[in-house]
Amino acid sequence: MQLQSKLPDFKTSIFTVMSQLAHEENAINLSQGFPNFDPDPHLLDLVDKAMREGFNQYAPMAGIYSLREALAQKCQKQFGVSYDPAHEINITAGATQAIYTALTAFVQTGDEVIIFKPAYDCYEPAILASGGVSVPIQMKGKDYKVDWDEFRTRLTPRTRMVVINTPHNPSGAVFSAADMQELEDSLKDTDILVLSDEVYEHIVFDKNKHVSAAMLPGLKERSLICYSFGKTFHTTGWKMGYCLAPEYLMKEFQKVHEYNVFSVNHPIQKALAAYLKDPGHYLDLGPFFQEKRDYFLKGLEGSSFQWTPSAGTYFQLLDYSAISDEADLEFAKRLTREYKVASIPVSVFNLANEDRKQLRFCFAKTQDTLSRALDILQKL
Ligand code: PMP
Ligand code: GLN
Repeated sequence: MQLQSKLPDFKTSIFTVMSQLAHEENAINLSQGFPNFDPDPHLLDLVDKAMREGFNQYAPMAGIYSLREALAQKCQKQFGVSYDPAHEINITAGATQAIYTALTAFVQTGDEVIIFKPAYDCYEPAILASGGVSVPIQMKGKDYKVDWDEFRTRLTPRTRMVVINTPHNPSGAVFSAADMQELEDSLKDTDILVLSDEVYEHIVFDKNKHVSAAMLPGLKERSLICYSFGKTFHTTGWKMGYCLAPEYLMKEFQKVHEYNVFSVNHPIQKALAAYLKDPGHYLDLGPFFQEKRDYFLKGLEGSSFQWTPSAGTYFQLLDYSAISDEADLEFAKRLTREYKVASIPVSVFNLANEDRKQLRFCFAKTQDTLSRALDILQKL
């Protein structure tokens, strides 16, 4: 049989490749982004309670109302904006599903979608599977800034959507209020939609602040904003997230969601609705991960790596050009095999796979794990 692949250029993700190699090599896995410590036992008790109380059958399509209400209140407090829990919030099976649903609900054959490189890996396949064309723009310099003049030159009558990601994976950069203003101004008087991937909203460091697309009226009205409970509550394996969007966009989002996923894990939704009542459960996340970032960077002082401290996310890029001139994928593999520390080569996310000799390390790990990794990295 002749088979025409819809996604001929896509292979197993680098996260899977490096995590698998770490496993085979018994290496410390700082590659794929997930914490190696448990979530709050109280949250686990709430899931257990919900299961025992009988919340084990289908949840409503958009998610249980109490969770949507809790999220509406969170947005009001955090961003000072309102989302109607009845029509503008949808619970999803992780941010990946929210992103896929948002892209497939709006991108039609020949539509252009702007993405910023290095780009997280799930945007492009969803654009292409919908018949769209991805228009990549490389972020510039050590701190991965968007050149907004270049951005404006890439807008065309076919531009349907712009995907942004702040705080940004893999670079750890955070869009400033001025960046968000540039985006808002550039899209004024157009029908271009925004998909804003804000899964690391609570993981920002130093003087940086997370500026959500929800906070700028000219962006809120055209944005689908995606979040992940996995990132916020150390539960990446639960695959739970949500999407916020104005009602006219949410209606279209739900047409795809309803027939792809229908509804997501009911007892976990019950637990999250109760857990979200205490904002301390997410507002302390920045300082919590900043301590880990600082510990990691302090431990690298005097080593041959160079870096700009991550402004957000739980990833740190390290430049290894003083250690080796190998291609980053080769170097990452050798580091895993010979030195037993796994990381992610950044070139796979860059425009034309540009190799800037940078590796991404996940510091969402216990102090013991980080300390063992640092001992090794110091010796390179
Ligand atoms: N966007 C970004 C930038 C991510 O790093 C991730 C991975 N955690 C996701 C989306 C997907 O989130 P989830 O695991 O909830 O699907
Ligand atoms: N978001 C995770 C990371 O950036 C990867 C999740 C996955 O394996 N798809 O490392």
